[in-house]
Amino acid sequence: MLNSHIHLDFDNVNSPSSSTTGVIVPSTGKDNWDSVIACCSADNNSHFALGIHPWFIENHQMIDLYNLEVRIEEEKPVAVGECGLDYVKVKDQNTQRFMFDEQISLATRFDLPLIIHSVQATEDVTDLLKSHSKSRGVIHAYSGSIQQAENLLKINFSFGFGNTLINPQAYKLHDIVKFLPIESIVIETDDHKNPDELIQVAERVARIKKLTVDEVIDQCDQNTRNIFNID
Ligand SMILES: [Zn+2]
Repeated sequence: MLNSHIHLDFDNVNSPSSSTTGVIVPSTGKDNWDSVIACCSADNNSHFALGIHPWFIENHQMIDLYNLEVRIEEEKPVAVGECGLDYVKVKDQNTQRFMFDEQISLATRFDLPLIIHSVQATEDVTDLLKSHSKSRGVIHAYSGSIQQAENLLKINFSFGFGNTLINPQAYKLHDIVKFLPIESIVIETDDHKNPDELIQVAERVARIKKLTVDEVIDQCDQNTRNIFNID
C-alpha cells in the first residue's frame, strides 16, 4: 500500500506500518530539501518531492526559486511540492500566487506532477493550473466542494484524502469521494503520527465506494504510481 503524502522527515511522524510498501515525501521549503532527500536515499520505495509550501513563503526569495530549479535538475524528485495556496493561514495572497505560479511553470518544464496544498483557495488554484495547459498532479487533503472537484477533474487532477475522511461525520467529504471516480483518488497520512491511519482511510474509501479494501488499495496504488511515474 502506497502513502501518497507523508512528512517522514518531521520529528513527530512515525515510520509507516509494515503494510506500507512505498511513500511519497513532500518538502516544505529550502530548509528541508536536504532532509527529505536524505530520508529517501536508503530505500528505493521512498520518493521525495521538492517545493516551497505556502506557509513558508516568507522565508523564501526569488533566488530560492532558482535554487529550486537547480535542485530539481540535480536531484530528480518525483514531483514539485508541496506548493499551493492557503488563504486561511497566510495573508499575502499575491506572493503566494506568484510563488505557486512559478512552481507550476517549473513542474511543467521538467514534466513533473505537482503536490498541491489548497485551503479556501480552490478557485484560484484551479485558475492558475488551467493557465498552464500541461500541469498535472494531486490536490492533497482535498477540502473544496463537489463543483470545484468537477472542475479539477476536467483538467485531470487527482485528489488526496487522509485522516479527516475517517471521521464518520465528515459527510461533505464522503459525498465528494462518492462523486469522484476511484481512478482519481489517492490516500495519505500527511503529518500525522499514527501509521495505521492509511489503512483506515482505505477502509473508509471502500465503504463509501462499495468496493473491497483490497480493490481500493490496488487502484489507489496504481493511481499513485501513474501520477508520480514510479514502479
Ligand atoms: Zn503535507
